[in-house]
Amino acid sequence: MTVARSGFSFGGDERRHVVVIGAGAVGCATAIEALRAGLRVTLLEPETPGGPHATSYGNAGWLSSHSVVPPALPGAWRKVPGWLADPLGPLAVRWRYLPRALPWLLRYLASGWTEARVQRTADALRTLLADAPALHAQLAAEAGVPQLIERRGLLHAYRSRAEFEDDALGWRVRGRVGVQWDEWSADELRRREPDLDARYTLGIFVPEAGHCRDPGAYVAALARHVVDAGAERVFGRATGFRTEGSRLRAVLTNDGEIACDAAAICAGAYSGPLAAAAGSPVPLDTERGYHVVIDDATVGPRTPVMVADGKLIAHWMDGGLRAAGQVEIGGLDAEPDWRRAEILHRHLLSMFPAFATTERGGAKTFNHWLGRRPSMPDGLPCIGPSAASADIVLAFGHGHVGLCGSARTGRLAAQLLAGSEPETPLAPFDPGRFK
Ligand SMILES: Cc1cc2nc3c(=O)[nH]c(=O)nc-3n(C[C@H](O)[C@H](O)[C@H](O)COP(=O)(O)OP(=O)(O)OC[C@H]3O[C@@H](n4cnc5c(N)ncnc54)[C@H](O)[C@@H]3O)c2cc1C
Repeated sequence: MTVARSGFSFGGDERRHVVVIGAGAVGCATAIEALRAGLRVTLLEPETPGGPHATSYGNAGWLSSHSVVPPALPGAWRKVPGWLADPLGPLAVRWRYLPRALPWLLRYLASGWTEARVQRTADALRTLLADAPALHAQLAAEAGVPQLIERRGLLHAYRSRAEFEDDALGWRVRGRVGVQWDEWSADELRRREPDLDARYTLGIFVPEAGHCRDPGAYVAALARHVVDAGAERVFGRATGFRTEGSRLRAVLTNDGEIACDAAAICAGAYSGPLAAAAGSPVPLDTERGYHVVIDDATVGPRTPVMVADGKLIAHWMDGGLRAAGQVEIGGLDAEPDWRRAEILHRHLLSMFPAFATTERGGAKTFNHWLGRRPSMPDGLPCIGPSAASADIVLAFGHGHVGLCGSARTGRLAAQLLAGSEPETPLAPFDPGRFK
């Protein structure tokens, strides 16, 4: 018998059983879409979905369908020494980790070496991100939290036209993939963002983009929705796979094995060993980032804003005013360096000078968080079957755009799990591209 509930259909034991490994934004979206495709789903996750352990918890919440340009652009290598030398800079390297990170860093710089390469990355990323705000609005509505997704555009603030021209390549590339934006003059910026410091004199407003008001709560709601829609939730950590020939028989966990027909690796920055166990070693590393939240701030932006000088994003979340950013190359296990969060805090105060005159004064206390972006050196995630078995699907490595890209990725991963044709080409995301 097949039972229909909440738009999902449930068959009997004959359904293909898939284990989704990891309940971050990507895993939850994959599980929802796999259920929608009529698959039997087990969601395997050792922690509370959407909790602070996960990168999906503390990000900036940008559903930036225009974030198609990789962080390293032509000539980036020239800027790196300056960024590293600047104690308030957006980039830091843990020197002890450098020898391990070097091959990844070189690939990272090489992938943005020419405008043609950047364009290729942008063309591919756009297929993943273009309609992300609409897809997330739909997922949030299904999960009963429509208020968490806002679609009112995003703002980039520059101190001068020259600073904007410095980013011209990125905007040129965005324009070629169909992104449109409005320019706000200094007066317009003042009118729309009265709290923003007057050093910002040019605004680039992207109307198509959106924002999530609380990524952790959003992922938690998606995970609840997965279970309500019929998936089994298993607390545990995947450790590998049992295959027979090219067929997957079970996912191995720290607490025995789960027999299944297919699996998706959605473990974010922790996906590397699982991908290797599935025959697809990939150069996944982490770009660590931080956030600070001032929970009782009274000044801030009207539109979620990224400032070009500090390369951080600020906006209101349900828990307060959040600033997120920084790239720290230091590996998965290094202790947090809370000085990076302090840098964000200082930038945030300087972006909104009224902090100095409000009751909160310099807002000395703030909450902070470290997150680990799962980053591939070419700025593109891995979405595709593993080398060992087409039953094992890789879906991780979204770097700076994993919240935004999770909705489309979930659909693509579910299509692979169901054995159907992916709705957009997956060649650019092929896990085997690094061979
Ligand atoms: C400071 C900062 C700002 C950011 N801002 C944005 C932004 O504005 N917009 C945007 O789109 N992206 C942003 N990102 C990036 C985004 O947060 C990530 O790309 C995204 O959250 C990755 O999601 P994920 O589901 O792959 O990983 P995660 O959210 O980390 O989820 C992975 C899950 O897998 C689980 N797991 C790990 N190992 C195992 C295992 N062996 N077995 C089972 N489960 C396992 C983990 O417990 C975790 O719950 C930002 C990141 C940072 C750090």
